[in-house]
Amino acid sequence: MSMNRQGRPTAPLSTSNSSQDKITFTGNRGLPMEEALLFERADSLNKSGVDLAEPKTNETRLGNLERNEDIGLPGLTEPEAIRHYVRLSQKNYAIDSGLYPLGSCTMKHNPRLNEQMARLPGFSDVHPLQPQSTVQGALALMQTLSGYLLELTGMHGVALSPKAGAHGELCGMLAIKCAHEAAGQRRNLVLVPESAHGTNPATAAFMGYTVRTLPAKADGTVSVEAVREALDDTVAGIMLTNPNTCGLFEPEVAAIADAVHEAGAYFYCDGANFNAIVGKVRPGDLGIDAMHINLHKTFSTPHGGGGPGSGPVVFSEALSPYAPLPYTIRDGENFRLIEDQAAATADGVSPLGRLTALHGQMGMFVRALTYMMSHGSDGMRQASEDAVLNANYVRNGLRDLFTQPFGDKACMHEVLFDDSFLKDTGVTTLDFAKAMIDEGYHPMTMYFPLVVHGAMLIEPTESESKDSLDLFIATLRHLAEEAKAGNVDLFQNAPTLTPRRRLDETGAARKPRLRWLPEPAREAAE
Ligand SMILES: *Cc1c(COP(=O)(O)O)cnc(C)c1O
Repeated sequence: MSMNRQGRPTAPLSTSNSSQDKITFTGNRGLPMEEALLFERADSLNKSGVDLAEPKTNETRLGNLERNEDIGLPGLTEPEAIRHYVRLSQKNYAIDSGLYPLGSCTMKHNPRLNEQMARLPGFSDVHPLQPQSTVQGALALMQTLSGYLLELTGMHGVALSPKAGAHGELCGMLAIKCAHEAAGQRRNLVLVPESAHGTNPATAAFMGYTVRTLPAKADGTVSVEAVREALDDTVAGIMLTNPNTCGLFEPEVAAIADAVHEAGAYFYCDGANFNAIVGKVRPGDLGIDAMHINLHKTFSTPHGGGGPGSGPVVFSEALSPYAPLPYTIRDGENFRLIEDQAAATADGVSPLGRLTALHGQMGMFVRALTYMMSHGSDGMRQASEDAVLNANYVRNGLRDLFTQPFGDKACMHEVLFDDSFLKDTGVTTLDFAKAMIDEGYHPMTMYFPLVVHGAMLIEPTESESKDSLDLFIATLRHLAEEAKAGNVDLFQNAPTLTPRRRLDETGAARKPRLRWLPEPAREAAE
């Protein structure tokens, strides 16, 4: 097998001859181009893609800091550099290239109208420290977005500044801590159901709370009895996801809220799954005290690489006084940003102070508000209904071959399967996911939630067409049938069509190679 200079195989490891002439179900053939690191290109070091004029003087003023050796950086021509980055970008799977069924992540289409609005100079070219009188439009947008979030959630106060869902959790839990402190209470426990996203217990633990795990009922939901049993006067609050990470609406959520309040605790809702209920259910009506909203999930702003995330938090009336700074207010014809503690305290607000240096992710605010305004209230409600419909369409298309952990019942915006349909086939959830890659699909969320053995969590979102869902269902049916027919090779060797095969993920995490070194130095270092 040919190896590149970094000791990595330059072609897929061929364990069977079949990978070359393999015909996949969809006809997709992975990604074709091999691309070396810039440093690995023999012709690239110590040349330059631009012609710089010779300096007028050879005298150096750097003294003994002057470099005497070659700098060792690659210098490509413009077309070489462009090809390199375009080829790398083509190895990237994205929502713009195909279905991205990652459960819990809401990988929906990012409408291009959002991008156009975010690029308007009045939003994109303003500076966060500009005088407020010169950014009235931007403040009006933040005020409008805050109002829409409150309207959709039925809550009382909002903090726009948190920069992701997990950051929103920290914000909400800090407000809860402040509220207990203001009441002279020291409470050290936080209740978290075992189906929770890892960020929930991590947030509680990060703040110094002890996490008490709540068991799930046989139907995948949390029972009010289990909550009552765990509650006492040392419990600061509960962190509950609704709809939960099993794709189910918590039927006892309102009773859970009552029980939590009776015990003097607060109800933090992980709102990452808000996409299932926008325009249908208002979290405020369920008794929730604080909830983050992932603008990059529910309101179609890009996740991560396409821009920063944004995780505004909405608060109940009881918790609003403990929301962080800054926030916007309407002051007659003008808009103002309340940023300093003195002004805020005059309004009777926030011992929490600021969560971020500035005001949050302006570009995401513009994109989210654009999405809301272009959909309208009826459109947002329909988006939620379609998200639930699509998930159930996938569920219905697979339920005779796949197994649902909590019985054959309808789901919200994501459908959860376990691995019992793979029992005795020799194929695991991981193998199944790798075979999906050969078929040109990003796998669904695997092994989460932890309460379900070999979990496969599929969230198609409302932005997939029926055709796209039909092909996805047919592909998954084909793979399930192959697994049941004993075609183990198809799975255990997968992916065979990708530029790289199964990677040593543990090795990469434990012994990461974070810096490129030229070959002799690399050998010496190892
Ligand atoms: C995505 C998600 C989070 C975390 O949100 P980030 O924006 O990625 O920090 C928390 N809980 C659940 C259930 C999620 O799906």
